[in-house]
Amino acid sequence: MNMTSHLNMTSHYRGLIERYRDRLPVSSDTPVVTLNEGNTPLIELFNLPNLLRKNVRILCKFEGLNPTGSFKDRGMTMAVSKAVEGGSKAIICASTGNTSAAAAAYAARANIRCFVLIPEGKIALGKLSQAMMHGSVVIQIRGNFDDGMRLVQELAETMPLDIVNSINPYRLQGQKTIAFEVLEALGDAPDYHALPVGNAGNISAHWIGYSEAAGMACGSCNHCDGKCPYLENKLATRRPIMVGYQASGAAPFLRGHMVDDPETVATAIRIGHPVSWDLAWAAKNESGGWFDECTDEEILRGQKLLAETEGIFCEPASAASIAGVCKDLELGVIGEGSTIVCTLTGHGLKDPDTAIEQSTKPVVVDAKRAAIEGVIAKHLGG
Ligand SMILES: *Cc1c(COP(=O)(O)O)cnc(C)c1O
Repeated sequence: MNMTSHLNMTSHYRGLIERYRDRLPVSSDTPVVTLNEGNTPLIELFNLPNLLRKNVRILCKFEGLNPTGSFKDRGMTMAVSKAVEGGSKAIICASTGNTSAAAAAYAARANIRCFVLIPEGKIALGKLSQAMMHGSVVIQIRGNFDDGMRLVQELAETMPLDIVNSINPYRLQGQKTIAFEVLEALGDAPDYHALPVGNAGNISAHWIGYSEAAGMACGSCNHCDGKCPYLENKLATRRPIMVGYQASGAAPFLRGHMVDDPETVATAIRIGHPVSWDLAWAAKNESGGWFDECTDEEILRGQKLLAETEGIFCEPASAASIAGVCKDLELGVIGEGSTIVCTLTGHGLKDPDTAIEQSTKPVVVDAKRAAIEGVIAKHLGG
């Protein structure tokens, strides 16, 4: 056995393109740009269902544990690999933060240039630091994400730039792998899959993944030349009901039309003109699911509840899925006995300012034993 074949036989995880190569539009010529993204934990919640007094299984797919701290890495490994395969020397994106963090990191890995357009002042600190640290050119615009998205499309018409926003179909192809991982962990589809909706690429990608895994044509895949590989090797017998939660101040899917001045503390979903409008409606309709909205207060309460009761720290946008599921359980819209998967899209450390603002401030005491004992005794109730 030579060294190469030995290495190929090891179980070292090498990212989602290698893992799902036969289910992705790549060939042996595609230069794989990876940071070993994917393979994130599916964590079952125990304390929260007890607290809600509901006999349900809730599992969190914690995408905050990807290399740059959000699910965007799943899309970016595909988008950047295909850009490099096509000879691209530079990529560009509009971003509320996490896309720019992922684009910057994967561009660094691929040794190509990266330009990111972000809304001035409305980006979480952790995300901005990532884009800057990885050496992308950060352009803050006096406008919101939707303005940035429009400008990126205009710029790419005349300049040698590959767009790596989710209008790039390879992004959704990479992101669909989350469904494969959930299916492999559970053995089949959950009853419900809940997630936050902003630009709506992710809910669309989830649906593509679940549909392909169940051997059902979804209409958005054109890489199998009519011979669908999923029909022979199904991962699922059924698909889940898809539930998309939006922030009340940025809820075009609830209003039924685009929203011009989206506003929410959950900056990752502060989007009023979602690009994947039709695909997301199809996911909702074909799955028999629904869209609902959460107020900023509900989102922050959900984020805090998850952090305090389960030890999982996600960012505000991600908590929309938890806040929404709690509400729908209380209303009985989601019934007892259900299995629910929530995608926690990003890590809580992305947005330390919002976390600190809503938490109890540390007490400051003298560096003396008695002073500290006093604080502890108070909390122990002694
Ligand atoms: C990008 C993002 C979303 C929204 O995903 P869409 O595909 O735009 O709907 C939600 N949460 C986080 C943390 C994100 O980074």
